[in-house]
Amino acid sequence: RKLGYAMLGLGYYATQIIMPRFAECEHSKLTALVSGTPEKLAKYGAQHGIPEKSRYSYETFDRIIDDPAVDIVYVVTPNSLHRTFTEWAARAGKHVMCEKPMATSVADGEAMIAACKAAGRKLMIGYRSRFEPHNLDAIALARGGALGPVTTIVADHGWTSSDPNMWRVKKALSGGGSLMDIGIYSLNAARYLTGEEPIAVNAMESTDRTNPVFAEVEDTINFQLLFPSGATANCVSTYSANCNRYRVSGPKGWVEIDPATSYEGQTMRANLDGQAKLRTPPATRKSQFAGQLDHLSECILTGRDPIVPGEEGLKDLRIIEAIYRAAREGRTVKL
Ligand code: NAD
Repeated sequence: RKLGYAMLGLGYYATQIIMPRFAECEHSKLTALVSGTPEKLAKYGAQHGIPEKSRYSYETFDRIIDDPAVDIVYVVTPNSLHRTFTEWAARAGKHVMCEKPMATSVADGEAMIAACKAAGRKLMIGYRSRFEPHNLDAIALARGGALGPVTTIVADHGWTSSDPNMWRVKKALSGGGSLMDIGIYSLNAARYLTGEEPIAVNAMESTDRTNPVFAEVEDTINFQLLFPSGATANCVSTYSANCNRYRVSGPKGWVEIDPATSYEGQTMRANLDGQAKLRTPPATRKSQFAGQLDHLSECILTGRDPIVPGEEGLKDLRIIEAIYRAAREGRTVKL
């Protein structure tokens, strides 16, 4: 059986990256749209065969409660709006897929988890790399002992942002700069590669506040994590360089992916026997996007919990708050 998704927020990621991927899904289909822009509802409704009665505005969204074709609402709006829309969807009796970062504060993240729990609905965060074959292979190598105990991770994520008007650099909508948007991939990777939660955080920020792009949010904020096993991660988060890679190492070898968490084009190298070689991971049946969409549907159909539930998003938010504090106060923050 295929569960029905309503896409809420018809911006770039929803319309160009996610919506075309329903064609690949085994357990998910697109059945409704929610947007504040009538032209987008008309355009994407026609493109994806969504009947007019299943095209909702934010004013008519409450009626989704009576739409049996919608099982899941996928929230793909600017970050600070994730909480409100997740709470709305849960109140309407729908399960929720919410984009990263889950919210712009720990308090909002906790409220979202509570709202979905109270409604008896599942909440999953859009951590698509957990369904991407190269990342899955790196996790298996790192956690399976092929590298020996993991000792160091380096993870760099950034892109060059130059538009002072986009919501990503408006603090009220984004909650922060590069860390909320792209640096979170370095953080999340360090956590999924070790399978551990950091116990201490250092951070250093570099932002040109005279540049109008960075009037409200940080540009570069690099951070270090210490894990209970002794493993450390050195992480880059920036809006001033294009980078997307990580390397995880132990005494017996290393594995790296560059680009690592992109939409496509992952390239992997590993050194497991003294020689660096290109590595092709075991194929998965579907793309990371379809894998992510179907995972939540399958969890709902079988009564399991998603591998990246709201609690996973909350863990990142707690560490993000600690990273900001470490940079601001110029000291190691213990978690
Ligand atoms: P976008 O600017 O392309 O789209 C945002 C959408 O939200 C727009 O359609 C906009 O009209 C709508 N919106 C609703 N209320 C708004 C308001 N008050 N102000 C501004 N816009 C409003 O952004 P995007 O790139 O699609 O990002 C949306 C979310 O998806 C963000 O949380 C982002 O972090 C996340 N994202 C995730 C990935 C991923 O790979 N997992 C990739 C891109 C974006």
